[in-house]
Amino acid sequence: MSDFVSDTDRDILDTLVEHRVATAVHLSVLLEIPERTIRYRLAQLKAKGYARAVRPPADKGSSPDHWCPTRKADSWSKGERAPHGGDKAAPSTTFVEHSGAITALYVALLKATAGLGLTEWEREAGAAEEFEWRSRPRKIVPDAFIVVGDKKTAYRAFVEVDLGSMSMTRLSQKLSGYAAYYAAQAWADIHPFPPALLLATTSEARAEGAIARFEQRIAQAERHAHSYSYRGRDEWVPEMGACACARYPDEAVGEPVWLSSGGGDGLYLTDLLRPPWERWAEQERTRRQEHERREQWRQSLRADPERCRKEIQECGSSRSFEDLAEALDQRGCLALKLLVQRDRKMDATERAAFAFFSRRLGWSRRGDLTAAHHPPPPSEQERRAVHSLASRYAERQKRYVARLYARGSDSPAIGQAIAHLDGGDFLRHDELARLPGLIAAHRNNLSELQRRRRAYLTWRAQSIVRARRAKRVLARLVFDPQHAERELDLERLWFCKPCGQLAIPTERDLAIPSVPDCSLCNLRAATSLAEALGEGLIRPDENGFWAVCHRPVPAWVLAEAARPLAKSAGLQEEW
Ligand SMILES: [Zn+2]
Repeated sequence: MSDFVSDTDRDILDTLVEHRVATAVHLSVLLEIPERTIRYRLAQLKAKGYARAVRPPADKGSSPDHWCPTRKADSWSKGERAPHGGDKAAPSTTFVEHSGAITALYVALLKATAGLGLTEWEREAGAAEEFEWRSRPRKIVPDAFIVVGDKKTAYRAFVEVDLGSMSMTRLSQKLSGYAAYYAAQAWADIHPFPPALLLATTSEARAEGAIARFEQRIAQAERHAHSYSYRGRDEWVPEMGACACARYPDEAVGEPVWLSSGGGDGLYLTDLLRPPWERWAEQERTRRQEHERREQWRQSLRADPERCRKEIQECGSSRSFEDLAEALDQRGCLALKLLVQRDRKMDATERAAFAFFSRRLGWSRRGDLTAAHHPPPPSEQERRAVHSLASRYAERQKRYVARLYARGSDSPAIGQAIAHLDGGDFLRHDELARLPGLIAAHRNNLSELQRRRRAYLTWRAQSIVRARRAKRVLARLVFDPQHAERELDLERLWFCKPCGQLAIPTERDLAIPSVPDCSLCNLRAATSLAEALGEGLIRPDENGFWAVCHRPVPAWVLAEAARPLAKSAGLQEEW
C-alpha cells in the first residue's frame, strides 16, 4: 500500500472500481474534492499502473478523459496480490462511453433534489433479475436499478442508457425481455410494485420508437400470460418512459423531457415514477386499514365472551371449539359444550368458564374464527372455572326438569331426565331441546290411552256378561267375574318398558286377538302383563284396572314441586 500517498488516492480508486468508468468531474462531485486535485491524483495513479484514461470520440468538441481501473486496481480492491503480467487490453470506447454515461446519471441523481433523493443504486450485475417465462429461464440486466424519493416516497425504476450504438434489433430484444418480465409479474418476487422502465437514448425518434416497440411487446406478452403461474395478483400496467437526454443526465433528471408509454409527453422524471408508487401506497394503506380492522375485531372477540360465542355459532366453527373442550373431564367437557351452544345472556360463572375458549382462539386461512390449532392444556384455574360451570348447569337443569314435572309433565322422558340428573350427570343440549316435544307427545298419548282404556273396559264388561250367560245355571252361581277380568287382562294387555306404560289394544285389535302397539312409541309392546307384574312394574289399582308403579321421585324434584307455581316453568322457559 506504500504506492498511495493519501486516503484520497484510495477513495479515488475505490470509486473507480465501483463505477468502472468516471471522469474527473464525476469524481470531484462524488468525493467532494476539487477537480484540480483529482486530475493530479489520477495522473499519479496512472503512473503507478492503477488507472488508465480512455477518450471516447465525441459528437462535438472533444470529450473528457474517461478513467477506468486497471487489473492491478481490481486486485488491490479485493485485497489480492498484484497480478503478474501486463494489464488486459484497454476497454472498448463504446463500453467506456456507455459506462461513463451511467456514472454521469448517478452523479446527476446524487445532485438532484425535489423528491428524487437516491436511496438505492445497483449497476448491471447487481441489478440483474432472473425469472421464468413460458417454462424457460429469462433474465433482465438493466444498466441500473434505482430507488429514489424523499422521506415518504420510494420510487423504483430500471434504467437503460442507449448512446445510439445499440442496433434497434438488440434494443427490441431488451424490451421483449422487460415485457416478459412485467407480463410474468416476476417483479413481485423482489419488488413491492413494478419498477418503471426508463430508457435514456440519443434522439426523440429513437425514444418514440422504443416506446412503441415496448407497447407492442407488452401486448404480445400479455396474450401469453393468462395461464401463467405468477398471475392472480392485481393487474399492473407497466410504466415505460423514454427521453433523448442520454448524454445530458442533468436534464434527464431535472427537466420535463420524458415521453411515457401512456402517451404522455414533456413529463418530469417524478411524473413517470410517481403513479406506480402511489397506487402501491394506496393499496398498502387499504391493506393496513383492513389489517387494523381485523385486529380490532379479533381483540373484541377475545375481550367479549358474548360476542365471541355469537361469532362461533354464526361462522359455523362450533365443532372446533367443542373439540377443544375434550381436553377436560367428561363433565367439564359437556358443560363447555352446553356453554357454546346456549344463546341466553351469560352470567358471571359462564363468562369465567368461557375464558377457556377466549384464550384459545385461532384464525382460519381465510381469517375466520376457529379454535387454536395447538391449544395449551387447561390450567388449574380454568379447570376450577369449568367445574363451577358444571355444578351450576346441573343445578339449573334439575330446577328446570323439576318444574316441568311439577306442572304435571310426568312423561317417561321427564322420568328419564330426572333419573339422569339424580345420578349426578346432566343433559346434553339436544336432550334438553327434545324435552318439550316429548312432553307434548306424551300429552297427546295420554288422551289416546284414556280412550283405549274406556273402550277396553266396555269391551271387557260385555265379554264378561257374555261369558256368564254362556254358563249353565249352576256354573253361573260360582262364576267369578273378577277372575274372568284378570284372565282377559292377562291375555289382552301388554306393557311397553321403554315408555313405562300399559299397551292397551285398540277396538280393532280387540276383534282379533293380537299383541297391541304402544300408544306412545307406536311399537309393538314386548312385555306381557304377567311379566310386568312379576317385575313390579305395575300393580292392580282400586278401580279393577292397572296402575304403573313409578319410580320414587327424588327429594329435589318434590322440593321444587312444592314451591309456588307462579314463577314456574312453561315449555317455553329455558333451563
Ligand atoms: Zn312405548
